[in-house]
Order: sequence, then C-alpha cells, then structure tokens
Amino acid sequence: MADVHRVLSLIDEIHHTLKWMKANGCRGFEARHSCLADSVAHMDDAPNTPPTSCALTSNILDDTPAMHIDPQDSLDSIQSDIVNCQRCKLAKTRTNIVFGEGTPSARLMFIGEAPGFDEDKQGKPFVGRAGQLLTKIIQAMGLTREQVFIGNVIKCRPPGNRNPEPDEILACAPFLNRQIAVIQPEFICALGTFAAQTLLHTTVPISKLRGQFHDCNGIQLMPTFHPSYLLRSPEKKRDVWEDIKLLMNAMGL
Ligand code: SF4
Repeated sequence: MADVHRVLSLIDEIHHTLKWMKANGCRGFEARHSCLADSVAHMDDAPNTPPTSCALTSNILDDTPAMHIDPQDSLDSIQSDIVNCQRCKLAKTRTNIVFGEGTPSARLMFIGEAPGFDEDKQGKPFVGRAGQLLTKIIQAMGLTREQVFIGNVIKCRPPGNRNPEPDEILACAPFLNRQIAVIQPEFICALGTFAAQTLLHTTVPISKLRGQFHDCNGIQLMPTFHPSYLLRSPEKKRDVWEDIKLLMNAMGL
C-alpha cells in the first residue's frame, strides 16, 4: 500500500499544482531547470496555496482521453467504456467485471475493496455472505440496496482475493472517479482498510479512521470495518453500528 500511496500522492500533487498554476494565470512553461525555478518563484508570489483533495475524486488521470470527466457523463457511458476492459492484468483472471449497482441519484455510496468469489461469478457487488451482511446494514438504516450505490475501488477480482496492486489501482481508479463524479453523493461509506486508505490517501489504520467523518472533495466520508471482517470478528459489529448511526444522523434518517 505504501507504494501506491506515494504514486497517488505524487500524481495528485502535480495535478493540483498545475490546476492552481493555471488558475493563477500560468499558460505553460518549459521543463528546463531554469524555467521551473522561475515557475516556483512565481508560485511563491501568488496569493493562494494549491488546494488539496482526496486521492480518487481528484480525477488523477483526467488528461487521458478515455478518463475525461464531462458533465454529459453517465453511469451508462461508464459501463460502455468498461465493457471488456483490458487495462490491467486482472482482465486475464476475472470471470465478470463488477461495475457496481444502485441508483445514479444515490445520496450514499458504499465503496469496498474489490469483488470476491461470488461477485466475480455473478458480476454483482456484495452478493456473498459479506454482501448479505451489508444488505442487513442498509436495511437497518431504513434504506434498500436500490436507494444507494454499491461498488468497489477495483472492478475485477484479484486472484485468490489478494490485495489489489498499485498498477491495478491506477488503471481502475478513473472508473470510480467517474462514478463518483456522475452520482455526486453527499456521503460515502468506505468499507474496510483498503477502500478507506485509498479514498483518503492515507496509511492510517481503519481502526483510527473509523468513528468520524472525513472530507473527500466536499463529500462526507465515513470509514468503517468491511462486512467480511465482521464475519470473522463479530464483536466489531457494535463499532460498525456506531459508525452507521453517525451516518444516519448526518443523513437525517
Ligand atoms: S480491474 Fe479495472 S482496470 Fe483492471 S481490467 Fe478490471 S475494470 Fe479494467
């Protein structure tokens, strides 16, 4: 995870610095040391400091044509673009791409790590035992799966449910970026360490992240334990319910 965070951090910083330079009147520069030094001096004189944001929703790869986010984008067009995706090596081992499901107008998105065995077989998110637990959590909130959007950071199952690798995250991140940009949820519930750390661009453990909201480009993000972890450690259900109650309160449920 450390490598991917360094890469995401670097790309994120470059992206935001360039946007900030553009907003402050910079229309281009030569990439020679002397010119870069001039640019840095110009930045030092500028009134505002570059903004920061969470890793994924900053659209880190939006200069790549297929990853461009535009106001006309929709879940349907993202789904068309992802069909038969071969952008990373997980394409060779998957059975189905798991795009995610739910309403495009969801106030709340649940985002997990990656599809597991059952999800890979069915092409749907959170349909195994962990998924059934997530469904119960959603119902306990007074909602249905159809009223939220459920997805993952990575759309194809890593073999043996191993952790996604940095190149796979970078290849797949634009699809989640676009989903978030289209849905524009008010809230995100990040399920488990991987999703929370990737979305929040941090290596802080989930046990420290959970229990409070974090800002993710204006979206209130609540990290909590992954349902599959709850199956192994049912004593953590109380913590998850505390996190969910905070979400419900913020959502007015
Ligand atoms: S994980 Fe994402 S980038 Fe990789 S093949 Fe699947 S859809 Fe494409």
